[in-house]
Amino acid sequence: MDDTTGEITPTILVHGGAWAMPDETELAETNVGGVKAAVKVGYEVLVNGGSAVDAVESAVRCLEDNPVFNAGHGSVLNSLKEVEMDAVIMEGDHLNAGAVACVQNIANPDSLARLVMDKTDHVLLVGQGANMFATEMGVPSVPMETLVTPNAVKRREEMKTYNQAIKKQYEIRKIDEAVPVQTGHDTVGAVALDSKGNVAFATSTGGINAKRPGRVGDSPLIGSGGYCDNRVGAVSTTGHGEAIMKVIQHKKHLIKLYST
Ligand code: ASP
Repeated sequence: MDDTTGEITPTILVHGGAWAMPDETELAETNVGGVKAAVKVGYEVLVNGGSAVDAVESAVRCLEDNPVFNAGHGSVLNSLKEVEMDAVIMEGDHLNAGAVACVQNIANPDSLARLVMDKTDHVLLVGQGANMFATEMGVPSVPMETLVTPNAVKRREEMKTYNQAIKKQYEIRKIDEAVPVQTGHDTVGAVALDSKGNVAFATSTGGINAKRPGRVGDSPLIGSGGYCDNRVGAVSTTGHGEAIMKVIQHKKHLIKLYST
């Protein structure tokens, strides 16, 4: 908010996951460049009068299309070496939300989540049902190969099991321990505030390397993969889904305990 005019300054924040930026300059540059490109796309929407929810959808689409990130094109591979994606979107005015989980053959899962929000009475559609809904909405089904990158294949070779992936990507180390190079967890997300004061968030991911088919992480769950409310703000999360889901439930339980 501008203190002199009382006008709200449209704002967008984008993330491409949380991880130690790779040492390779080229890789670091493509990551930062990808995030900046998405910010630009989302910001354009906002300055042209678009809503916060339109802005986060556009920004996340841009990241899903970018093979550098673990979402859409570039998603990690599950134990069957297939792509299964989770995505969510929410607006903070009426708290409308939509999400998809375990969805396959979709280039932009976050836009499918938006359609769940706008066109159904539901919040979350999974697997076959989500794909059936996509067909109904005229969202094209794309061959899985078009979502798979050489880097995803390499990472899957390096991390043969889910446990290896967790150890390599999320293990907490003692503060004085040398931090080995992380291969990264690069789920994507965005939060935005539009000129009307509405906030929104979106999160999209391929999940975690070598996960079981059918595994759903925190990302598509409201309150775990993010949250937004005009009265509070907006957040999009990334990290080890199983750990995040447990902590969020624990916190909700505590809040309930203290408020009764
Ligand atoms: N939260 C994602 C999941 O567990 C992965 C990530 O953000 O790194 O599927």
